[in-house]
Amino acid sequence: MKIDDFPENIRPFILPELKGHLVYRCLGCGLEHNIKKLLYTCPECGKVLLIYDLNFDRLKQIPGETWRRIFDYRKMVSIPALKGIFRYHEFIGPVIPLDSIIYLGEAHTPMVEANAAMQEKAGIKFYFKNDGQNPSASFKDRGMASALSYINHLVKNGHISDVLAICASTGDTSAAAALYGAYLQPHIKSAVLLPHKKITAQQLSQPLGSGARVFEIPGVFDDCMKVVEALSERYNVALLNSKNAWRILGQESYPYEIAQDFEYDLSNKVVVVPIGNAGNISAIMSGFLKFFEIGIIETLPKIIGVQSEHANPVFKYFLEPDVTKRKFFPVVVKSSVAQAAMIGNPVSMPRVIHLAEQYNRLAEKVSVFVVQVTEKQIMDWELIANRNGHIACPHGGECLAGIIEAKKGGLITSQDVAVLDSTAHTLKFAGFQEMYFSRSFPDEYEISYDDTLINVPTLVNPQDLEKLPAPGKPLIGDDFQIFVDRIAEEIAKNLDLKKV
Ligand SMILES: *Cc1c(COP(=O)(O)O)cnc(C)c1O
Ligand SMILES: [Zn+2]
Repeated sequence: MKIDDFPENIRPFILPELKGHLVYRCLGCGLEHNIKKLLYTCPECGKVLLIYDLNFDRLKQIPGETWRRIFDYRKMVSIPALKGIFRYHEFIGPVIPLDSIIYLGEAHTPMVEANAAMQEKAGIKFYFKNDGQNPSASFKDRGMASALSYINHLVKNGHISDVLAICASTGDTSAAAALYGAYLQPHIKSAVLLPHKKITAQQLSQPLGSGARVFEIPGVFDDCMKVVEALSERYNVALLNSKNAWRILGQESYPYEIAQDFEYDLSNKVVVVPIGNAGNISAIMSGFLKFFEIGIIETLPKIIGVQSEHANPVFKYFLEPDVTKRKFFPVVVKSSVAQAAMIGNPVSMPRVIHLAEQYNRLAEKVSVFVVQVTEKQIMDWELIANRNGHIACPHGGECLAGIIEAKKGGLITSQDVAVLDSTAHTLKFAGFQEMYFSRSFPDEYEISYDDTLINVPTLVNPQDLEKLPAPGKPLIGDDFQIFVDRIAEEIAKNLDLKKV
């Protein structure tokens, strides 16, 4: 729809103005730093940063009701730059001109309501938000769209050149980084570091296909992260891990979409998210806080983070009920099917601590919780979800296992409505399903099998058939008919079909 056809009071707001004044703010010493340079940690004290808009209060001049209509009308415009995360431009990157924005089809992923059988099993109404339907098949595209759009803006303005974008990854970050980097050829080259043999074949194929330099190193993600940090401190590279605060801004589109999809009514809503490096849960808290401050939403929904027993440092931190006594300790991770969340020392932990405190304070009650689930629960609930029409990845299964734990623990009730983040597409993790169905998980995963969830193909190849078709050698005439009849008969017998 053309902007001229919109209501007069909305038209002036459809194209965003570049009125933001963004700064990096250190969560350690509180110092602010200019965004013209790419910074990942505070040059003064080395702690992590978040990006704040010093002009944020200008957004309050527009009433919440008007903002809601602006976003609703922006759904209808056909300007590519406003089609993805930048529908919420004023809240995500109000210094990035539209012609620097990269849009590869990310964001606005569907919220799919669970069927009656699933809601009964879970004891609560819930939706999966399918972030696996992003272009590289995980939510990481949201943060890459903002980070790479900003880098593109800096390149166009001559602030930086010859950028080598680099990241450590449990798989999905590298897939997303390489995809967006490939789009910006030849201005950007990308390199990714992956833990050798710790990511799936599908995830490895993605950065390779996008043309990134791929380095596999021994160890786990936390080891890759340390090497990438060393590189970004000593060499001229652009770090694309979620330490890069631009990633967090883009990922805030996720809570904005949830708000919009519920027509901005978030009472009794629960947002459930797996926690790895804790960038995603940070973005979810930060995004809801911004919409709340501007009056676009009137309620802060409950947020439930979920971790596997095999990688649970954030869960352990929140176990201590007395906020003043909480202390963070990294953990040594064990193998997990929630592989993208297999992180013992989350980079965004200071952000989580900072934002959860603020969130609970503004919600006027404790509204951020973390629960823990077993590897078996994760696998089983993923398989059950997918048998009921979803495309949940293990992390989606982890969220579903998480609401069941949360309900048992009294954190949520059957009056609540939950949105579960299926952070990636199930196909990225087909190998885990295969290991389950063939009962071949290595012991360290501590998976046991539920027979009713196992599904394997049945080969139909009756021994009495003399001639079989093969590629390039079709059967013809009677031979073909005999083949078709015999196979059909065998399948009918197997399925116990009744004759018509
Ligand atoms: C990165 C990732 C996570 C973990 O998100 P964090 O922001 O690191 O907490 C979970 N699921 C998938 C599929 C991911 O790619
Ligand atoms: Zn500092």
